[in-house]
Amino acid sequence: MHKLPNGVTFFERGWLSSNNVLIQDADQALLVDTGHWTHANQTASLVASVLNDRPLTAVVNTHLHSDHCGGNAFLQSVYPSLHTFIPPGLAAFVDDWDADALTYTATGQHCPTFSRSGSLSNGDTFTVGHSVWQAHSAPGHDPHSLVFFQEDDGILISADALWENGFGVVFPEIEGVDAFDEVQATLEIIEQLKPKIVLPGHGAAFTDVKGALARAKSRLAQFRGSAEKHAMYAAKVLLKFKLLDVQRIKYLDLCAWANAAGYLQLLQTKYAHASDFDGWVLDLCKSLEKSGACAINEQYIVNIN
Ligand SMILES: [Zn+2]
Repeated sequence: MHKLPNGVTFFERGWLSSNNVLIQDADQALLVDTGHWTHANQTASLVASVLNDRPLTAVVNTHLHSDHCGGNAFLQSVYPSLHTFIPPGLAAFVDDWDADALTYTATGQHCPTFSRSGSLSNGDTFTVGHSVWQAHSAPGHDPHSLVFFQEDDGILISADALWENGFGVVFPEIEGVDAFDEVQATLEIIEQLKPKIVLPGHGAAFTDVKGALARAKSRLAQFRGSAEKHAMYAAKVLLKFKLLDVQRIKYLDLCAWANAAGYLQLLQTKYAHASDFDGWVLDLCKSLEKSGACAINEQYIVNIN
């Protein structure tokens, strides 16, 4: 594995919490993404394990999904002088904290209220030590997402725009907004940047960027060929995320939660005409069980892995 330069630390988390990247020099320490709110203590401990008594000076979010900025509020309480930078697209909704506009209501997810100091837009840079990190717009998975590239060492922080095997759910598509072209364009931008190592939002860091891009493009082609395939993937990801959060839930409670999550309502209405809502949720759970992602034990759905 390609060695990261001094001052760059990659925390590989799981699927509930996004990965985090700590970038520091003698004067500043900046964390890209902060994980899920239920893991905020763990995120703060990871940061402190590297910084010791030095303070974290800034948080930068690639995008505002709950698994990427859920630790913002807690870190702001731990480090009162912390600066927080987010992409500009949803900034007004952070300032007035609008959980609907921030999609936390539609995903059925929670994110503790945090404040921001400023925004980072496409083309903006931040410099830490001798390294310049540039923000690039990476719409598709999320219309407002950014990725960050440090050219000298060829390091790309790719968020959910590119993983070793695929990319995140294309959320605008759930709302009926075409966004597969944006996914394609973002993959092309990444290709042009020619990163030597990618630090993704989830999963391990990787250096076979060509292979990952090829897998992502083939996945995209499958989704383009079948909107239903993407819809089922999206529904299962939302359910699995809930299971990762709660670990074990009564099937009927899961149905009630899903019923209140606008995205799952939309997906069921559009793609599951044949079954009633609770039956559709059970079908999805069975499919997750088949792939080893959960177990159905009498009236409970239990997370696995
Ligand atoms: Zn995301």
